[in-house]
Amino acid sequence: MAKKWKPALVHLSRALFAAAITAILAQFPFDYIESFTYDLRVRVTPPPKPSGHIETIVVDFATMKELGRAPSANDFRLVLEKLAAADADTIISLINLTETVGSSDESRQLANTALRIPRFMVALDDVPLEGEQDALKLPTPFEKVPAVSAPVPIDRNIFARDDVTRRMMLAYQGLPTMYPQIAARFRDDLKSREPTYNPADFRGVFDYLKSDQAFVKFAPTGTYHATSFLSLLNGTIDTSRFKNKIVIIGRDIQTTSRDYVRTPYSRDIVAMTIVELAANSLETLIQNTAPTRAPNWVNSVITGLISYFTVLVVLTATPTTGLLLLGSTLGTYFLISVLSLWLGSYWIGVAHPFIAIFICYYFFIPYRLIIENRRSWEYYQKNKLLTQVEELKTNFLSMMSHDLKTPIARIQGMADIVRNDPNPLSARQKEAIETLKRSSDELLEFVSGILSLGRIESKAIQLHLHSKDVNALVREVVAKLEYLARSKNIEIRAELEPLFSIRMDVDLIRQVLQNLIENAIKYSPEGSSILVTSEERDGHIVVQVADQGPGIPEDELPHIFMKFYRSRNAKGSSIKGSGLGLYLAKYFVELHKGRVSVDSTLGQGSTFTVELPTE
Ligand code: ADP
Repeated sequence: MAKKWKPALVHLSRALFAAAITAILAQFPFDYIESFTYDLRVRVTPPPKPSGHIETIVVDFATMKELGRAPSANDFRLVLEKLAAADADTIISLINLTETVGSSDESRQLANTALRIPRFMVALDDVPLEGEQDALKLPTPFEKVPAVSAPVPIDRNIFARDDVTRRMMLAYQGLPTMYPQIAARFRDDLKSREPTYNPADFRGVFDYLKSDQAFVKFAPTGTYHATSFLSLLNGTIDTSRFKNKIVIIGRDIQTTSRDYVRTPYSRDIVAMTIVELAANSLETLIQNTAPTRAPNWVNSVITGLISYFTVLVVLTATPTTGLLLLGSTLGTYFLISVLSLWLGSYWIGVAHPFIAIFICYYFFIPYRLIIENRRSWEYYQKNKLLTQVEELKTNFLSMMSHDLKTPIARIQGMADIVRNDPNPLSARQKEAIETLKRSSDELLEFVSGILSLGRIESKAIQLHLHSKDVNALVREVVAKLEYLARSKNIEIRAELEPLFSIRMDVDLIRQVLQNLIENAIKYSPEGSSILVTSEERDGHIVVQVADQGPGIPEDELPHIFMKFYRSRNAKGSSIKGSGLGLYLAKYFVELHKGRVSVDSTLGQGSTFTVELPTE
């Protein structure tokens, strides 16, 4: 039961961790990072196209140079008259008329001209408080000229705190600024309702400290062509371009930072004139494309999912795959955020998901390292223990076998004495002595095997090479095992090609051949036959022992040369064995740089092949 629930619990704990990370991160706005990535997104998305309703005029360096001073009240009046004659729809001056120089007569004339133009207004940076609307009023003689509020919000002590302008103000304490009112004139859906202000008419409006604000859909600096004040004053420009347009007049002479803002496109202190900022703000409202921020719950859901995914990846994937997966998650998510800003003007949170990925990654990597370290430490310990046990076992077996050899030899000696005694033995005695002899032979073989194993494992085997004809060795072994074969009525045939002698450790190869032929006899049924062949092939002497025994199941074939391995059939039968014979045979042949292999068909017999190099 506990086992069944474990995977679910693991998932649940990961999900809880992801939720906890999300909840903790939600306590921090990460405005700076969010805004930074927002700016990045603005920069990589194609800029919005201007509607063509807005024209800008700037007092620029050329104007200052030509006039030798700032434009006077007279200059201003002349320019306003030209714009009025050109039928401009709305004229907004970001230059306060009271700042223009001139005699009181000239100033009054400017005021009169300004008053005659139906939609001329002076935009001020101030926001009037409730009941203080008169605060916007200009001093005499301009007191009747309409003044509107056009504040420039900057992220100075709030939000990203990076001095960048990303927002505009639509209203303060319910009183609209110039933006919604002017924009409404150019919106088909709002034209008729003008001039009532309703924040719901504009996309992406949010409440901030009693003001209605919206993000500006910025176009890069220079998108709005700025006409030089001078060219208008000198009449060197066709004024028809201002017909039915919103015309914004301002300064671009880099004398005060108040004339400029930093934008998502550039942090330069003179990145954009407030003239172009006003154009961008109006355009955003006219096209109704203010970027809308995703609500917090959407960002939290995304952060939670991404956290969960990160934890999953860190705990289950290999390090490289994990890094790749997380990297592509970061990339894909950023791409999605860019697309949603570009196509839907929708600002989804990037800071929280990104930070969540890093936190989850760095939190779980050490955790995983600890787990893996512990696991390999356990393997190491287990392995060490196994090696020690193995060594102990072999040592013990070797010691024991060594001590057994003397008593066995004594038993065999005594049995021989009795067998060779001139006094005749009864049939029962003879049989008992024969059994005694056979059993002690078996025992000796077993003990020898164990001793060889001990020598192999302590790497104490040394080859004593002598020149010898393999055929002679085969004949010797066959002759020795003849009696065993006869006891099972098995015929051993030998087909031996004449061979050259090769250098080998005669004792070891004899043991190999003896084991193979003995196995063939042991595992074959009564009355079957065994074929032993020898030949020279490709620089090798090849000896094969083929029997008509039970064969070896395919799944056991890879194991039969292993130490102490006995097949299931052998273990279940009365055939005795230690499971060491083939292991030793393989080892001895390989010491001679040769090979042992087996070919077997179940129920039809097995063929063991020994290949020894002639060189
Ligand atoms: P054992 O002492 O059991 O004979 P070996 O290492 O000599 O040990 O052989 C390993 C296993 O291979 C045996 O237990 C037996 O199952 C199988 N085997 C070896 N030779 C033959 C054969 N000629 N026919 C069938 N099975 C064999």
